[in-house]
Amino acid sequence: SKEKGRDAYSFFTSDISKQILADQKLNESLIKAIDNKEFIVLYQPQVDIATGKITGAEALVRWIHPEHGFTMPFEFIPLAEEKGYIVEIGVQVLEQACIDMKMLLDSGYVLNNIAVNLSLKQIRHQGFVQSVQNILNSTSLNPSYLEFEVTETMIMKEYEHACSVLDTLRNLGITLSIDDFGTGYSSLSYLKRLPIQKIKIDKSFIDEIDRDENDVEITKAIIAMSHSLGLKVLAEGVEEESQLQILRQLKCESYQGYYCSKPVAIQEFKTLVQKQNT
Ligand code: C2E
Ligand code: CA
Ligand code: CA
Ligand code: CA
Repeated sequence: SKEKGRDAYSFFTSDISKQILADQKLNESLIKAIDNKEFIVLYQPQVDIATGKITGAEALVRWIHPEHGFTMPFEFIPLAEEKGYIVEIGVQVLEQACIDMKMLLDSGYVLNNIAVNLSLKQIRHQGFVQSVQNILNSTSLNPSYLEFEVTETMIMKEYEHACSVLDTLRNLGITLSIDDFGTGYSSLSYLKRLPIQKIKIDKSFIDEIDRDENDVEITKAIIAMSHSLGLKVLAEGVEEESQLQILRQLKCESYQGYYCSKPVAIQEFKTLVQKQNT
């Protein structure tokens, strides 16, 4: 599948005229993909640092392209956002994530949350809140288990409207977190105004936290600020025990990363959660 990924990538890039053709092809196949529901959802565990237990997961979309096979988000999310298809893809991902989470809870798995990524186009879309409500109703998932991830950049691009949509989602009982924290250009004042419960520290601050004192200081400051605002903190992209040790010392609540697991299919996620309880 690595080979396929590379083929798809070089196919969709190279020079400009090829790029236009490739975009048209990608565009057509994306429209079909939505109709044929060619997307699947993988789950990356979120782990409580103090206990080592998996407490939830982030839902991450993959496209099973009929010819190219397994296709990563960076190959199709940008065009899907540009064309607005992300609205419908987002609905399909959210529905699958809610179905899977409901199934896990009904089977007795003890989990706190399933996190789903939002994009600007979804927040802008008129029918968005209604579609979230419809999915919560049809899947019978208690909204307190659902978490939406938004970025600072998204919020700043659409401040007034984003505030009103996020307030409404929060009033439904949904949890909200800031994704890729520290990478967007923004004032921090939105943290006061918005009903946010969690900050996800971007992987770029975690990558060299076991080697770079500046990254330790930045992470320490983010955690201190978050805690004083009553927010929980999750560190993204943890790959090594040495990174985890520092995050534990800094009292970071939870992490995601290859150190626990890559994003995996629901069956494999179940196995991971089961294993830790035996
Ligand atoms: P993100 O939301 O920041 O997701 C985290 C990305 O980091 C995921 O890549 C995940 O596989 C990767 N990752 C997690 N832990 C590690 C690690 O320890 N090391 C390394 N090297 N990488 C790690 P992925 O799944 O390729 O997703 C990329 C981006 O695509 C996501 O970044 C998100 O912005 C977007 N995306 C994925 N699924 C959806 C979706 O359903 N809707 C929307 N709107 N965007 C999505
Ligand atoms: Ca995310
Ligand atoms: Ca992220
Ligand atoms: Ca990131």
